[in-house]
Amino acid sequence: MTASTQHAALIDFVRDIYGPDPLPLHRPVFEGNERRYLVDCIDSNFVSSVGARVTEFETQIAAFAGARHGVATVNGTAALHAALLLSGVARGEEVISQALTFIATANAISYIGARPVFIDVDRDTLGMSPEALRGWLEVNTRRENGRCVNAASGARIAACVPMHTFGLPCRIAEIAEICTEYGIPLIEDTAESLGSYVGARHTGTFGQIAAFSFNGNKIITTGGGGMIVTDDAELSARAKHLTTTAKRPHPYEFFHDEIGYNYRLPNLNAALGVAQMETLPEMLKIKAEVAARYREFCALHGFTFIDARAGTTANYWLNAILLEDRAARDALLEASNAAGVMTRPIWRLMTELPMYENCQNDGLDNARWLVDRVVNLPSSVPESEFGRLKP
Ligand SMILES: *Cc1c(COP(=O)(O)O)cnc(C)c1O
Repeated sequence: MTASTQHAALIDFVRDIYGPDPLPLHRPVFEGNERRYLVDCIDSNFVSSVGARVTEFETQIAAFAGARHGVATVNGTAALHAALLLSGVARGEEVISQALTFIATANAISYIGARPVFIDVDRDTLGMSPEALRGWLEVNTRRENGRCVNAASGARIAACVPMHTFGLPCRIAEIAEICTEYGIPLIEDTAESLGSYVGARHTGTFGQIAAFSFNGNKIITTGGGGMIVTDDAELSARAKHLTTTAKRPHPYEFFHDEIGYNYRLPNLNAALGVAQMETLPEMLKIKAEVAARYREFCALHGFTFIDARAGTTANYWLNAILLEDRAARDALLEASNAAGVMTRPIWRLMTELPMYENCQNDGLDNARWLVDRVVNLPSSVPESEFGRLKP
């Protein structure tokens, strides 16, 4: 099979699922109660920072993820920023994350004035590698008054932030064990993994806190939005306080007891989220069916489909395949995009960006290998399936 027949087969196959129009990688679907709930907000005048939809959405997400509490925020980056602050990360400290991620993970660490340390990922999950994490910690850190300290910089390792790439669960149970052993708070970046599980356990429930995103390109959207989830009642109360300007409740006085953030999700956005959550279970079924079609196509046409590892369930937010090498990757990107089928490479490594190029890292061999080979394919819910999302 030549590369060009392989490309043509893939383009035909994608058109077969999605139809003839130019195709984005992922677009939202509003086939549930979205319009009705938005109009309700406008009619009742509850569009902004007060309204029942926020609490409802928080309860829905927490229940879905199997966490005790949810605190909604304006976006996922804000949720990560607040999660790091709540975990006690402070200026000058260091936070371990992965170099293969969306920029928000590293930026949230930087907003605090903390420095990211970038650890390699596993080739199968595209998420943080527990072996790489342990290897780096063993060689580069020491214990000091019960704290884990970077031997080179003397800074405390204040948190670890793995990410579940494209909704594929990383080896989070193993990572959690290592973090416990070293006394490092674990924060999961679950921006891409709503509906992804390890066994029966939802991603985002392995550490202290997790941060979801409901940006327009995610599996469900609130326009813009995010959420912190945690089992810790005190952390959740602190999260609410910190993300709502740190105002002490009072009928008319303005007393703010620390520098808080205006990170609260407006009621309008939460209303969209409540309607989207009603369709999520059906959406997950449809996405698993689309993934199954890609899996079968790949097996027949010599592509490598990146699948959830055994014992885990992915939400198949974005489907991805592995090409032979960078040249093969680029040839496919060129052919498919020229044909109006949007495909994309994975992100640049954080260490390839000017603001993070000097950050400590472990060599990132697998991450570099993946950057040369991963391509995302169109993964939205196909229009032909919309009927299944109607209330
Ligand atoms: C989308 C995303 C975020 C948060 O993004 P927002 O656009 O701020 O909601 C964080 N981390 C990852 C990995 C993401 O994909």
